[in-house]
Amino acid sequence: MSCIAKDKPWVTVTLAAVVVAISLFSRPSDAEWLGDSRAMMGTEVSVHVWHENADEASAFIDDAFAEVARIEGLMSTYIEGSEISGINSGAAETPVAAGDELIQLILRSLDISMLTRGAFDITFDSVGQYYDFRERQRPDAATIEEGLERIDFKLVDVDRLAGTVRFLAPGVRINLGGIAKGYAVERAVSLLRSRGIRHGIVTAGGDSRLLGDRLGQPFMVGIRDPRRDEEVVLSIPLEDEAISTSGDYERYFEEDGKRYHHIIQPATGLPAGGVRSATIVGPDAVLTDALATSVFVMGVDQGLTLISTLPDYEGIVIDAEGRLFYSDGLQPPEAAE
Ligand code: ADP
Ligand code: MG
Repeated sequence: MSCIAKDKPWVTVTLAAVVVAISLFSRPSDAEWLGDSRAMMGTEVSVHVWHENADEASAFIDDAFAEVARIEGLMSTYIEGSEISGINSGAAETPVAAGDELIQLILRSLDISMLTRGAFDITFDSVGQYYDFRERQRPDAATIEEGLERIDFKLVDVDRLAGTVRFLAPGVRINLGGIAKGYAVERAVSLLRSRGIRHGIVTAGGDSRLLGDRLGQPFMVGIRDPRRDEEVVLSIPLEDEAISTSGDYERYFEEDGKRYHHIIQPATGLPAGGVRSATIVGPDAVLTDALATSVFVMGVDQGLTLISTLPDYEGIVIDAEGRLFYSDGLQPPEAAE
C-alpha cells in the first residue's frame, strides 16, 4: 500500500465528496450511488451504496441505519435503559446479565487492553465520566486521584458461560466509545453485503468501513488536517478495508491555552498528549477503531511499534508538531515513485 502525496490535485476531496462526485460521473446504466447521513452515536453516521434499484437501495440504507441504532441502544452510556448502563449501575454489587453481543465486545475490549498494555481501557470512564466537553467541564485533581484507582481493565470480570459482568471494585464504569462505532460500521456493512450490495461505504464519525471498491477503482479516503477544518493532509486509496482516525479535534475545549480532549491516558486520567491524530487501516473496523484510540494514547514510537507487529494493519500518526509518521508497510509520499 502506498500513500498519495498532498500535491496531487484530487487530494482535497473528502470521503463524502468522493461519493457525491461518483454519482455525477457514473457510467451510463440504471445503477447509481445513493446515500444518507444521520446524527447518531453522538456523531454523524453516513451510509452510501451503489445499486441498480433505487427503492431497494433506500430500504437497505434504512436497514443499515436501523442496525446502527440497535447497537447504540445496547452500548450507549447516554441511554439510561441501555445494557451497558445497566452494567454500570449494578455490576459493582452483583453480576449483571448482558446479551452475547455486548459480552463479546467487552471481551474484545479486554483483549485489546492486554495487547496495548492498558493504553486501551474501557474503564477509563471511571474518570472520563467527569469530563463534559460541551460544558467545558473537567475533573479536579482530587476527583482524578480517586477515580484513577478504578481505571483498570482487570477490574472487569466477565463470566462467559453465565453471560454476566461484574466489577471487582466500587465506582468502576465502562464505556465503549473507543470501539462501538467501529463495531457499528462493521455490522452495517455486513448487513449491506448480505443484501447483495457490492460497493458501499458506512462511516460513523472517524470510522469508515468500505465495501468493495468504487467500480474498478479504489476509494480515496482523506485524513483530516488536525488543525485546519475541511483540509486533508493525505489521501489513501482503499478497497474493502476499514479506516479509523482518532483526533484531539473531535471533542475538546481549551482552557488557559491547553487543549482538553476526549482521548484519556488511563495512567493519568488526563487527555493523552504528544499526538494530534492517529489513523489505522486494516480489515476489521472494530480493531481499527480501538487501535486508533490506543495508538493515540501510546504515542508515535510505541504506537507504531505495536502496529508493526500486526499483519494487515497500518498506521499514520500526526504528532504534536504536526509531523507525519508511518508504519513500515506504508510508503511516505517522499519515497513514492
Ligand atoms: P471518535 O471517533 O469519537 O473520535 P475515538 O475512536 O477517537 O472516537 O475514541 C474516543 C472515544 O474513546 C472517547 O470519546 C471515549 O469514549 C473513548 N476513550 C477515551 N480514552 C480511551 C481509552 N484510553 N481507552 C478506551 N477508550 C477510550
Ligand atoms: Mg477509536
